[in-house]
Amino acid sequence: STPVATFCALSRAATSGLLIKGGDYLEILAKIKYMAFDKTGTITRGEFTLTDFRSLADDIPLTTLLYWLSSIESKSSHPIAAVLVDYGRGQGVEPKPENVEDFQNFPGEGVFGKMDGKEIYIGNKKLGQRANCTVDPKIVNGENNTKEARTCGYIYSGGALIGSFSLSDDCRSGAAEAIKELKSMGIRTALLTGDSQSTAMRAQEQLGKGLDAVHAELLPEDKARIIADYKKDGPTAMVGDGVNDAPALATADVGISMGVSGSALATETGHVILMSNDIRKIPKAIKLARKTHRKVI
Ligand code: ADP
Ligand code: MG
Repeated sequence: STPVATFCALSRAATSGLLIKGGDYLEILAKIKYMAFDKTGTITRGEFTLTDFRSLADDIPLTTLLYWLSSIESKSSHPIAAVLVDYGRGQGVEPKPENVEDFQNFPGEGVFGKMDGKEIYIGNKKLGQRANCTVDPKIVNGENNTKEARTCGYIYSGGALIGSFSLSDDCRSGAAEAIKELKSMGIRTALLTGDSQSTAMRAQEQLGKGLDAVHAELLPEDKARIIADYKKDGPTAMVGDGVNDAPALATADVGISMGVSGSALATETGHVILMSNDIRKIPKAIKLARKTHRKVI
């Protein structure tokens, strides 16, 4: 494309809050056939409300559990972490990150830390395997209640399930509209999430069932593999915000990251940065890219 047309389009996109790291990506945007979205923090606001928190071990008081939970989570940048730390504070429990040993982050699964001599894992069902816990959390928590379909979190220690919590998170305003717009432009859309199938389906319902495909319970490498599969069939974009989205963002022909609320890794990896949380800017940018591209051929 001509340098002038490209430059004008890039600066127009930038003014509207979309930073495109080079004219090549503008050209690919014009041809996108598949667009995959991460759920938490991308389609949804990533602003969780805690709806339930309980100890599942008779010998562990709720405040002790909350102290471990909020201290370990205070070392994580995941949107889930913030709400748990805030909840603890509201209950008069101040997190002590300095008392957490061997902190580890497992993208798409949860976190780990040692406190008071205990090894504690906090995250989803999948993390149970790492924690050597064979109890099916579904039995304990109402995860199969699809009406609720909240994000369920579990606390594991010593191979046992010692606590659980649930969180709710709503779709961003404009998300349904953006998906509908992309569809009308002939682009096929998909949801790629590390969250459970039931929570993924709840998002799909909130989007008016507008997505062409829903993939749940994915690890970062699963997201990247699915993107690689779409790519075989046509130019593919991925929109994400998390550390767990980075491999998929890098694999996509165009990786689009959420600039305001997204993790630093996602922002570095993305080829396009959405500087507002309004995903309706994405179909708009594709229209601009198509126009620019048409002008020069
Ligand atoms: P998505 O792919 O929808 O953005 P994530 O991959 O970020 O979701 O997270 C997948 C799941 O991993 C979450 O739904 C949550 O259950 C769990 N998880 C990830 N990080 C944490 C954390 N810091 N604390 C608790 N759970 C976590
Ligand atoms: Mg996310």
